[in-house]
Amino acid sequence: FILGKKKATEVAHLVWKRVVQKGDTVIDATCGNGHDTLAMLKMVADESCKGSVYGMDIQEVALQKTSSLLEESVSLNEKELVKLFSKCHSKMHEVLPRDTCVRLVAFNLGYLPGGDKTIITESGTTLKALEVAKDILLPGGLISLVVYVGHPGGWEELQIVQQFVSKLSVKKWICCEYQSSNRSWSPVLVFLFKRC
Ligand code: SAM
Repeated sequence: FILGKKKATEVAHLVWKRVVQKGDTVIDATCGNGHDTLAMLKMVADESCKGSVYGMDIQEVALQKTSSLLEESVSLNEKELVKLFSKCHSKMHEVLPRDTCVRLVAFNLGYLPGGDKTIITESGTTLKALEVAKDILLPGGLISLVVYVGHPGGWEELQIVQQFVSKLSVKKWICCEYQSSNRSWSPVLVFLFKRC
């Protein structure tokens, strides 16, 4: 009941909170308007201002929105823990310092809310990004996806994600999905927990 009243992204944030620790390094693979980046920052920032959030988006407008949201919501010290990159998430390994592993990689797929609805995440690059995320994730870490199925291409993208997930070893990964079943076109949450 508690989950049913929440938005998909809020449910995702609840799950992230169980995994992410203060001081962690995490990646927001689709910054968009910055709500997920902000939520992640709050999870990793500690009093000595450690922790890092690497945020990526292919749209400059999304990075500007994220930057503005952070400016109005957190202190300057905390904001400095976030590094934003105008780059495709399939290149996420290129933005991290050498040999850095991360606790969480989060994808919120689809188009930028309030922005250009024709610019959407594409199955091909989403798949490449998942392959990279798999390798840079710490044992005990999480890859989280919010997959929207209501826009053109969304359903196909979900199927590509599900195919990728179905090939992951049960010995190494615990994978599950969450979706509201009595609401049409509700997004699907996909969680990939890397076993310790
Ligand atoms: N997480 C965001 C938030 O909290 O507001 C919402 C993300 S929005 C649903 C999806 C974003 O993914 C868009 O801003 C879009 O520009 C971005 N995107 C699309 N393809 C991408 C890619 N290959 N790499 C990184 N970002 C991408």
